Parts: sequence; C-alpha cells; structure tokens
Amino acid sequence: MRYVSTRNSDQTVNFSTALLNGLAPDGGLYVPQTLPKSKTEAWEASMDFPDMAARILTPWLATQVSGAVLKLILKRALDFPVPLVKVGDVWVLELFHGPTLSFKDFGARTMSRLMNHFVKDEPLTILVATSGDTGSAVADGFGNLPNLRVAVLYPKGQVSPTQEKQLIVRRKGVRAFAVQGTFDDCQSMVKELLVSPGKLNLSAANSINVGRLLPQMLYYYWAFAKGKWQFADVCVPCGNLGNLTAGVIAHLCGLPVRKFIAAHNSNDGFPRFLRGDETPFKDSVRTLSNAMDVGRPSNFERLKFLLSDERLRCMIQGRSCSNEETLTSIRRVYEETGYIADPHTAVALAAVRDNPDPVIVLSTAHPAKFSDIVEQALGFAPASVPALIKLDSMPTWVQSLPPTADSLRLNLESWD
Ligand SMILES: *Cc1c(COP(=O)(O)O)cnc(C)c1O
Repeated sequence: MRYVSTRNSDQTVNFSTALLNGLAPDGGLYVPQTLPKSKTEAWEASMDFPDMAARILTPWLATQVSGAVLKLILKRALDFPVPLVKVGDVWVLELFHGPTLSFKDFGARTMSRLMNHFVKDEPLTILVATSGDTGSAVADGFGNLPNLRVAVLYPKGQVSPTQEKQLIVRRKGVRAFAVQGTFDDCQSMVKELLVSPGKLNLSAANSINVGRLLPQMLYYYWAFAKGKWQFADVCVPCGNLGNLTAGVIAHLCGLPVRKFIAAHNSNDGFPRFLRGDETPFKDSVRTLSNAMDVGRPSNFERLKFLLSDERLRCMIQGRSCSNEETLTSIRRVYEETGYIADPHTAVALAAVRDNPDPVIVLSTAHPAKFSDIVEQALGFAPASVPALIKLDSMPTWVQSLPPTADSLRLNLESWD
C-alpha cells in the first residue's frame, strides 16, 4: 500500500513516511493510492474490537508492520468499550469511553503507538496545537512511550476548565504550554518550528495525519458488525471533516452506508458546498459545540481528491444547527428518552430527527466533559465520571509562553 499527496499523485510514499511527515512536502494531505476492498467476514464475525481492527487495517499497513505487532498495538491503544445504544428511533455509537472522553482517543492512541514503533534512534518530539479535545487525547495517548515526547500548546484562558485540567496533568514525556495568544498563534508557532527545526527532531500530531485517519474508520465497521444492517445511514458531527472522511473511505472500501449526514453547527461551510455554494467557507465562529468550530476544514481537500463534487453531493447530506437548536436537542432527547447527549452529539441528533431510514449517530464526546452546557439545557449537570474526578487530585505541569516560535524553541532545546 502506497500513499500519495492530494496535490501530486505521481510520487508515492510508504505508510511510515506518510505517518512521520504528517503533511506532504508540497503542502498536500496524504491519501491512499488505492482502496483495498474490505472483506465482509472482517467485520461480520463476532470479534472483539481490537481483533476486528487488526483485520481491517492489515492491508493498509502491510509489509510495514507485522500482523502480530499490529494486533498488540491495537490491543493497547483501543482498550475501552465502544457501545451501540438505542436512543428513541436511532442508534447511537458512543465513541467517548477512552481516557480523555472524546473520539479523538481512537486516532491519538493508535497513531502514537504506530509512531513509537517506527522511531528508533533519537527521541522524536511531537508538537500539537490544540483548541480543546485533540491536545489531551494526544498528550494522554503519547505520554509514557519511550521514543516520543510531546509538547502541547493551547491558548491560555480559551479552553474550558475541564479541558485545561485534562491538558496540564503531569505525564511522563509530556509538556503543556499555555500560550499568551490565540489558537492561531499556537498553530503558527508549531508550523514555524516544523519548517526550521534546527537541531530539534520534530513531528506534528495534527488532525490531518493519516495515522489518525485510519483508526477512525474502524468504528464505522464496528457499528455495522454490531447492528447487522444490510444498509444504514450514518450521521457524523463534523468540524475538520476528519471523522467523516474516514467514514467515506470505509464506504469506498465496501461498507454499506446508504448515505452520510454531515451535521454541523453554525460553521456550515460544508453543507453550503453540498448545496452548490461556490464560496462556502468563512472564518469560524464560536458555538456551544466548540470542537466543531472550524471555518475551513482541512479534510475537505481529501474529500475532493477522493470523489467528484457530484458524487459527494449524492453521498452526503449536509445539515446545520444553531446554538438554540443544540440546547433544544439536548432537552428534547432527554425528555423523550432519558438520554443525556453532549452538545456535539446533540447537533447530530437534531440532524436526524426526521430521517426515514435506520440511522447510526456517532457520539463524539461524553456529556460530563461539557457539563456546563448540558446544565444550561437541562437545569442540572450530568453525573461526573471517575476519569474527570481523578484529575482534581493529580499533579499538574504547565508553563506560560509568549506567542513566539523562539520561546518554544528555547524550551524544547533545554528539555532532557
Ligand atoms: C474533533 C471533534 C469533532 C469534529 O470532528 P472532525 O473530525 O474534526 O470533523 C466533533 N465532536 C467532538 C467532541 C470533537 O472533539
């Protein structure tokens, strides 16, 4: 299996190069050169999640990671439950039972172990700029791996208190930096260092890495294996479109999805594109589902590479939902079924209200992680969970940084 850049399909690279580079040298995103057909027995059998995952991913990594190693990596990375539950008329696939309570744990934990497998000589420092869920999933997933260390940058004062606690917990091999600036400043600092690393050995764990995309296909197969549908619709709460892109790839490999419903908050560039708007993307606005506040989703480039506009418009239905509708959705679902949805899942549940066919909704975060918003909707906060309660008594490590690449460089150079 070889990978190509979305901007040049002549040059191919192997999986480990695509994984460690992150972004292709021409600025494009890596995509698979060919799409391996998944054999139905790979996801029909009653297997546990890591076993099914190993069968699905084997052709993607073949010759680079042995079957036994891949199995071990997936067993350690994906060691949490992935329940499919009935909520009223729809099926909800809960992707938030990993250690940091969002679906980002799938990608981060798998990618980190794959990177650790390929890096052998000098330790690699992974940079990640985060506006919320990604940073803690990466810090947690990458911490304590012998060949890697992680620097997490987040905009000081601009993440939720729960998210910040998750980011600054002291972990072996991880440093958290509170940048006196915006998320964009954090991203520029990372980019600047990646372009001129000097003597640092650097890579990045951003959302466009193929190492995060591949594991995100797995739970789509899992949902179909558990639900035993011939066909079903799948609704995905979308931001940077990584989750949706992974589902579309699984579908192109043979998963019988009838249609995708791309659920967005007011950052609705992609639904606009699907409706035929020529210039749909704008700067992002802040909403109650903050992990979906992306104005120019980077995985759009991958979707355009994989499929024509006509096929995208045929396969995917776009929906968007205001803040008011998000709160109404949380309230309505609770009143009708007793189920407590986080604001991101609530956007998706609003999008499928009148869906005529069987539909699977991907639930991307635990409601306790966004308890203030749930409380705003329901008048009470959801019960907390051990993973969050534990944080209060754990030691923390965080350093404040001015928003310049040089301040980050100095810190990383003196890190032993
Ligand atoms: C990241 C995130 C999303 C958006 O996923 P994309 O892959 O960026 O489209 C949705 N919900 C939650 C809770 C997230 O953390």
